[in-house]
Amino acid sequence: HAKSCGKNNAKLYSSSLTMQIMSHVQLEVGLRKALQNDELYLLYQPQIAVASTRIVGVEALVRWRHPERGIISPTEFIPLAEETGLIVPIGEWVLRTACRQAMDWQVLGQRPLRVAVNLSAKQFKDENLTQIVLSALHDTGLPAHLLELELTEGTLMDDARATMVTLEQLRGIGVYLSIDDFGTGYSSMNYLKRFNVRALKIDKSFISGLPQDSENAAITRAIIAMAHGLKLAVVAEGVETGEQLVLLEEYGCDLAQGYHLGRPSPPEIIAQMLGDGAAAAIAAS
Ligand code: C2E
Ligand code: MG
Ligand code: MG
Ligand code: MG
Repeated sequence: HAKSCGKNNAKLYSSSLTMQIMSHVQLEVGLRKALQNDELYLLYQPQIAVASTRIVGVEALVRWRHPERGIISPTEFIPLAEETGLIVPIGEWVLRTACRQAMDWQVLGQRPLRVAVNLSAKQFKDENLTQIVLSALHDTGLPAHLLELELTEGTLMDDARATMVTLEQLRGIGVYLSIDDFGTGYSSMNYLKRFNVRALKIDKSFISGLPQDSENAAITRAIIAMAHGLKLAVVAEGVETGEQLVLLEEYGCDLAQGYHLGRPSPPEIIAQMLGDGAAAAIAAS
C-alpha cells in the first residue's frame, strides 16, 4: 500500500512540477513578446521633500499587463528578466519611457521633475550602459541631472573596482545616482565613501515599524547621520503613516516616498498632483 501511495504522490508531485516548469517557460516566452506587444507600462511614485512637502521627483516602477494572467508585479518578472538577459532591452525601454514622460510633464507647463529609474545588476554590467543612457537623454531632451539611476548595494559591491569605473562614467554624464534598499545588502563603508553617489534610499523594512520599533528608529537615525556626514541626501522608502513622516522630519530626513504620500500612479495622476501641489496629494492619499 505504501508503495502505491508513494507512486501516486510521485505522480502528483511530478505533474505539479511540470505545471510549475510550464508556467515558468510560458512566462519567459510571454516576457519575450511583452515589449513588442506593448504589454509593459510604467507607474510613477512621488518623492516628496520632507520639509516642504513638495514633489521633487518620481520613481518609475514597471508593470506587466499579461493577456491571460492580468497584471504581474516586477518582483515576479524582473528576476526572470535578469536570468534571461531580457532585462537589457526591457531596461532600455523603461529608461527611454521614463525620460520621455519626464519631458512630457515639463511641456505641460509643470516644473522640472527628477525621474528615478531602477537599474538591475545586469544592466549595470552591460558595457553599452553609458551609451544607452546618453542616447535616451539625447533623444528625449531630458537634462542629465533630472535622471536618477537607482542601484542596489549588491550591484555596487559585486565588483567594486569595475563599479568605480562605471560610476565615474555615469557621473561624467551628469546623472543623479542613488543606492536603493540601503541597509538590506552589504556595503563596505570604505567603498561607500568612494562611490560617487548622491543619495541613499533607506529600505522600507526599517521604516515600516516606526515609530514604535526603537531598533529600527536607531538604524534610521544612524543612516541619516552617516549619509549627511558623507554629504549624501536621504530618501525614506515605504512611508505609510503621518506619524512616520513627522518622525522622519524630526530626524532630518530629506525626502520621503510611500503610500502615505502617493501610490505608484499613472502619468495623468502625477500631472494632477503637480498641479494641485503636494499638500493636496497628501490629503488625497
Ligand atoms: P524598489 O525600487 O525598492 O521600489 C519600491 C517598491 O516599494 C515598489 O514596489 C513600490 O510600489 C513599493 N512601495 C512604495 N511605497 C510603499 C509603501 O508605503 N509600503 C509598501 N509596503 N511598499 C511600498 P514595486 O513597484 O512592486 O517594485 C518592486 C521592485 O521591483 C522595486 O523595488 C525594484 O527593485 C523592482 N523594479 C520595479 N521596476 C523596475 C524596473 O523598471 N527595472 C528594474 N530593474 N527593477 C524594477
Ligand atoms: Mg527603487
Ligand atoms: Mg527600494
Ligand atoms: Mg529594489
